[in-house]
Amino acid sequence: MKKLTIRDVDLQGKTLIMRVDFNVPIDKETGKVADDTRIKAALPTIEHAVKNGAKVILLSHLGRPKGNVDPKYSLKPVAERLNEISGLNVEFLPEVVGDNVVRAVQNMKPSEVILLENTRFHPGETKNDPELAQAWAGLADIHVNDAFGTAHRAHASNVGIANFIPSVAGFLMEKEIEFLGKVTYEPDHPYVVVLGGVKVSDKIGVITHLLEKADKVLIGGAMMFTFLKAKGYQVGSSLVEEDKIELAKSILNKASEKKVDFILPVDTVIAQKIESGVEKKVVEIEDGIPEGWMGLDIGPKTVELFSEALRSAKTVVWNGPMGVFEIDDFSQGTKSIAEAIANLSATTVIGGGDSAAAVSKFGLKSSYSHVSTGGGASLEFLEGKELPGIRSIADKKKHVG
Ligand code: ADP
Ligand code: MG
Repeated sequence: MKKLTIRDVDLQGKTLIMRVDFNVPIDKETGKVADDTRIKAALPTIEHAVKNGAKVILLSHLGRPKGNVDPKYSLKPVAERLNEISGLNVEFLPEVVGDNVVRAVQNMKPSEVILLENTRFHPGETKNDPELAQAWAGLADIHVNDAFGTAHRAHASNVGIANFIPSVAGFLMEKEIEFLGKVTYEPDHPYVVVLGGVKVSDKIGVITHLLEKADKVLIGGAMMFTFLKAKGYQVGSSLVEEDKIELAKSILNKASEKKVDFILPVDTVIAQKIESGVEKKVVEIEDGIPEGWMGLDIGPKTVELFSEALRSAKTVVWNGPMGVFEIDDFSQGTKSIAEAIANLSATTVIGGGDSAAAVSKFGLKSSYSHVSTGGGASLEFLEGKELPGIRSIADKKKHVG
């Protein structure tokens, strides 16, 4: 990796200001953390710092309090959960910056951890206010960035601080850069890109960039119907982006110019409503979908076709479910493709919030090389964009600490 990581730094006695992703759901009734996956995911970097004698100041946002102090977005329950699930003794400080924060940091001893209040309680956070960034930077020697999910945003806590003190990647950030970097820039071949989800328009940047690298592109999800309509098939009442049909045609042309095997479904599971328990049938794409019916999953022949196309892959990236996987009646296509990819001996990477949720739902997460935690950030990475929250991390040639 070209970026410096926390492994490259001598941590003993240093003060770290660490941007983590504690943006977790809070149960409205109990006020407690409803899902601590992200807290657990952040532990290895925090524990590494503590074990090596650093003082650690933790920063995170939670929700969208829009620059105001709003108790329902407080990080206090996060501190409580962090203390419960780790051997750490984390002190929660209900302020974002200011004299109390400065004093508390001055009194810290090596291996102590403080969590400050929600960074977005301060209006300067999302504006990348240099004064706020400098105030945070002034507390520490080194900035550690372990919040990939916000890497597509230039905020004070991830990007701003790096203008004043050196920034290095935490373990989560390192893994994101390593795997997303591989599938975006230097995949091993054959390279198969699997795309689904709702809209062609959301994924156009990803398709365009990955057409340059891929050997095969498999299209499922609702977006398949925009392509199928572009090819002249009857798609009934399926979701179609009418204003993207021309774009779909030009993508199909580009794929054939680049000799990329662009594979569309040959059958689909249709129903009249997006509801569980309704009448459903499988139809061949060639026969068309009747009016009033919509395609909600890929069919069994398509599962076969896609599984065969995946078989020899050395690299696979998957973004976007193959169907309405949230409803069991329409989840089989997504599940089968999730399994087919999980069983490959290839570098397998998932990007996208709903695709990651699907893989977790099917219990397959550990069978993938990497499941990205970033929704928007992983899409922008796959588009080949340089993310501000990664650009700000120091390059390897620089010595830090
Ligand atoms: P990701 O978050 O992985 O990038 P998207 O947000 O693009 O994925 O799409 C996920 C959504 O797409 C899911 O909620 C799923 O129900 C929906 N979806 C997939 N296939 C269809 C379809 N054929 N018709 C309607 N919605 C679909
Ligand atoms: Mg989504």
